[in-house]
Amino acid sequence: NTDKPSNFLEQIIEKDLAEGRVPGNKIVTRFPPEPNGFLHLGHATSICLNFGLAEKYQGECNLRFDDTNPEKEEQVYVDAIKEDVKWLGFNWAGEVRYASSYFDQFYEWALHLIREGKAYVDFQDAETMRETRGNFTKPGVDSPTRNASVEENLAEFEKMRAGEYEEGQASLRARIDMQSPNMNMRDPVLYRIRKVAHHQTGDKWCIYPSYDFAHGQEDAIEGVTHSICTLEFQDHRPLYEWFLENLPVPAKPTQYEFARSNLNYTITSKRKLKRLVDENVVNGWDDPRMPTVSGMRRRGVTPASIRKFAEMLGVSRTDGIADVSMLEHAIRDDLNNNAARAMVVMNPLKVVITNMEKGAVEEMKAAAHPNRPELGERVLPFTRELFIDRADFNEDNTLSRKKFKRLVTGEYIRLRSTYVVKHEETIKDDSGEIVEIHCSYVPGTVGENPPEGIRPRGVIHWVSATESRKAEMRIYDRLFTHESPDNAEGDTMDYVNPESLKIGEGWVEPGLVNAKPEQGFQFEREGYFVADRHDHSAEHPVFNMTIGLKDTWAA
Ligand code: ATP
Ligand code: MG
Ligand code: MG
Repeated sequence: NTDKPSNFLEQIIEKDLAEGRVPGNKIVTRFPPEPNGFLHLGHATSICLNFGLAEKYQGECNLRFDDTNPEKEEQVYVDAIKEDVKWLGFNWAGEVRYASSYFDQFYEWALHLIREGKAYVDFQDAETMRETRGNFTKPGVDSPTRNASVEENLAEFEKMRAGEYEEGQASLRARIDMQSPNMNMRDPVLYRIRKVAHHQTGDKWCIYPSYDFAHGQEDAIEGVTHSICTLEFQDHRPLYEWFLENLPVPAKPTQYEFARSNLNYTITSKRKLKRLVDENVVNGWDDPRMPTVSGMRRRGVTPASIRKFAEMLGVSRTDGIADVSMLEHAIRDDLNNNAARAMVVMNPLKVVITNMEKGAVEEMKAAAHPNRPELGERVLPFTRELFIDRADFNEDNTLSRKKFKRLVTGEYIRLRSTYVVKHEETIKDDSGEIVEIHCSYVPGTVGENPPEGIRPRGVIHWVSATESRKAEMRIYDRLFTHESPDNAEGDTMDYVNPESLKIGEGWVEPGLVNAKPEQGFQFEREGYFVADRHDHSAEHPVFNMTIGLKDTWAA
């Protein structure tokens, strides 16, 4: 690869490769989610980073479920995470891995530490353990069993494993240093008792390893060379290394830390996202308002735009909050280049073309995309009765042409991809409400300039009133009204936007009933939309608004 390293991790990897520190010259990374929720945008950036590095340096990236907390984990999350990673366009090396498939090995390694006098069973309860661990001004106090014999510890650990103790009665701790300035080194817990079934191992175990006792060893077993995690694990690195030094592990991975990706107006915490689901604030994890990968997918966000966003965000070593408009920019940019154009009228005003015969249909052709001829053409039936948007007509013909580039009384407008039409008459009901307008089309103006003296004010979108189809339109807005819902005063839930979903209807050009679920469009002058992944069908078309047309991001 000839690209310059674009972040500190790439610099490290290139140096390691150049200096022969990578076994077989093949880097191995991993993405290690805990299957206790759906993946969110923050995870997506970590996926792009880990799988992206493997791609760039012809290495491999594992997908590994860090499933050491059985009470919060479920198979549905495992399945959703696999689907999300694939959808983002990445392939993991070989089979999916599970921390739980190494439980036998971890158990052996726990025995190894006990035999070496480096681990002991502690009977202090959690509260006492917290107290006696101290803090950085308060020295730690040894557990009464810290110096128990190897035989005693082997016997007690066996009892733990056999289920003879209840939850919280005993735990296995590493015997490291109760005076360490790093709290993580003050005899961390290696195993705790949890009498719950595990989604992978069933009832086989009632003791489960801690994150710290599992993570580095998982990396070592899998031959991970560069283990990349978020900054909060920086203080755990000495412990990560302690296990690798004190256990007969098959490889020596290195841990590196980078800053979490945070975005304004957005929550990236599984726990809080789960609350939104559990409290029915949204309709499930894949609600199009959710910043989950599956929610964004259903919203019409493309994998390419998420990957682009991750690239724009880059890799940082200090925490910060990115502007959501940067993500929105990446989404628009991709959809603008790739989404087919179509017309939909959301707030219809009937237009009668008086010089068009009743029942006649003239088929207009329009490119699916202005500069992607390979996307083909659409057929737009032009009929006597049409719909335009109510906002595109104003009776007041003294409005300046500059300010109002739409139709006014007695003037001309071009209907996109068809004729120039002239306003003739406005029909109102008794209350003065406009019911319909009458226009005439100017022959010879399809794809041609109108004759001298006819100056259309602009171009507006339209559909046939008789040939179009009614569709459900789901219009989404930000889920939170506060820029930083996580840190706002009071409960995060107080800042949920009550207007984050509005359900309306629209009249869509007839070809759109053939839209496939998940197909994205630019509805001219309205925004980007996607056919709903689950609810859209030819009989009942449903489109979700992905994002509006106007870009607010300034680089
Ligand atoms: P959460 O706090 O939302 O539960 P987590 O870190 O506990 O997140 P995991 O399932 O353990 O969730 O995360 C899997 C991987 O994704 C980890 O390597 C973690 O560092 C990374 N990750 C999670 N959130 C972010 C984020 N906001 N930015 C970057 N990486 C993230
Ligand atoms: Mg985690
Ligand atoms: Mg978490």
